[in-house]
Parts: sequence; structure tokens; C-alpha cells
Amino acid sequence: MLMTCDIDGVVGDIVTALLREVNGRFGTRFNSEICAKYKTAENLPKQYQEYANVAYRDPRLLQKVPLFPDALWGLQELVAMGISVTLMTGRGASEEWYGDRSIVARKFTFDWIVNNELPVNGVLFVDPSEKHCYAKLFGVAIEDDLAVVRRMAAPAFVDTVLLMDRPWNRSAGAIPGVERVKGWKGVVEALRRKGK
Ligand SMILES: [Mg+2]
Repeated sequence: MLMTCDIDGVVGDIVTALLREVNGRFGTRFNSEICAKYKTAENLPKQYQEYANVAYRDPRLLQKVPLFPDALWGLQELVAMGISVTLMTGRGASEEWYGDRSIVARKFTFDWIVNNELPVNGVLFVDPSEKHCYAKLFGVAIEDDLAVVRRMAAPAFVDTVLLMDRPWNRSAGAIPGVERVKGWKGVVEALRRKGK
């Protein structure tokens, strides 16, 4: 069976990568629990936002994104269950990426997948506003972005939508047609339960 999986916030911890840049520059100790919103710079006190915004727009940040501790294990479990995983990301594809940055972002993303030995079939670079259309082809999708999961869960769209529980999506509570999962253990359990 086929599944698609978001990268940032699901497999890769780009929030921690960004906060490490800020902490390294200012000697602060911010961690991802402060992030009530996905646009990370806005979660920080004002004096750090400009630096964070510049760091966030630098494609080199993509090379420093750590895997969530259970992500590799989770992907390997899915492969063992016979599930084929294709990554899908807005990196390089949405309007916030333009020109050479878009090309570099895609190159760094391919390198990152290879370097981390992720057991995936490929990667799609898709504008987030269209992710639900592509996800329909897969039938199962994992995301951390509330706007994206809401579109995916709309009637007649994606059969199984999993929302990876993260600090920046907790305020939403329950969303019809969406199952909130805690970490990759939660993903594996949810898909086992569904017999997918
Ligand atoms: Mg994401």
C-alpha cells in the first residue's frame, strides 16, 4: 500500500534546527515547546525574530535538520509492514522559496534523505496548497500542518489522514476525519489498527 509523508515537523525537526541557530547566536535555551505556531520566528521574543527569519530562509538550515528520534525506526517499521512511503514537502515549491534557493533547497533535501538513509521511494516537491490533491493518490497521509490536514480530510479526499502531534498544532483539538498520533509509535499503531 502507498503512503505519503510530510518532511518538516514529521520526519525532520526543522524547528529544533532553527532554535539551535538562535541559541548558538544568543546563548538562549529555546526549545520547540515554546512554538504555539508553525512560523517559528513568531514564537520568539521580538529581539530574536529578525535573526530567526534570516536563518529560516537560508537553505543551509536544511542540511542541519535532525531527524525526530523515532522517525527512522518508524519508517523502517512501515516498510516492514509492506507500506511504500513517498515524502512530500513544500520545500522549494511554495512561494517563500524562489530562484536559486528553490533549486538548492531541493538538492539539499535529496542529500539529506540519502545521508540519513531514509527508506523512502522518493520525494515530491509540492506547493502546500495542493498537497491534498497529491495525497489523494496515496490514500494515507501524515502531516503536522493544520491547514493541510483540514484540506486532506475534506469529504472525498484522502482516506486516512494522520496528524502528527506537535506543540504548534495542539490548540486545534479534534478535527473530523483526522487522527492525531503521538510520535512514530502512534503512526505505526494507527496503521496496524487500520490493517493497512
Ligand atoms: Mg510540516
